[in-house]
Amino acid sequence: MKYPGAMLSEIWRHLIKKPATVLYPLERPQIPENFRGKIEYYDDKCIRCGLCARDCPSGACTMKKFEEDKKPRPVFDLGMCLFCGQCAEVCPKDAISLTKKFEFSTFDKSSLIVE
Ligand code: SF4
Ligand code: SF4
Repeated sequence: MKYPGAMLSEIWRHLIKKPATVLYPLERPQIPENFRGKIEYYDDKCIRCGLCARDCPSGACTMKKFEEDKKPRPVFDLGMCLFCGQCAEVCPKDAISLTKKFEFSTFDKSSLIVE
């Protein structure tokens, strides 16, 4: 460093500055308005068009046929999801939304399936 005094002034500046981080989880972070978190899927709105699965870049969204359904419906694997929001963007019926929920780390992979 050219001027050692510059380092001291930098240290002093950061001592009196408000911290840039929060003491999570003791302190709750402010979630931005357009945050893309955990996916929610509303089956009653879905028309089974398959656009969400077609446009998903990671393969996290796939169409799956269940016994009780005539047509396959989307299933989301949050373990593979990039949270890009493409599925919600392309859905013509607003059957998918990306919520502000972000605390879903788990040891049980099956809890990351949204259907
Ligand atoms: S948010 Fe992106 S990666 Fe995740 S399921 Fe939707 S399209 Fe796929
Ligand atoms: S894009 Fe929307 S309406 Fe079409 S299958 Fe996916 S969730 Fe259902």
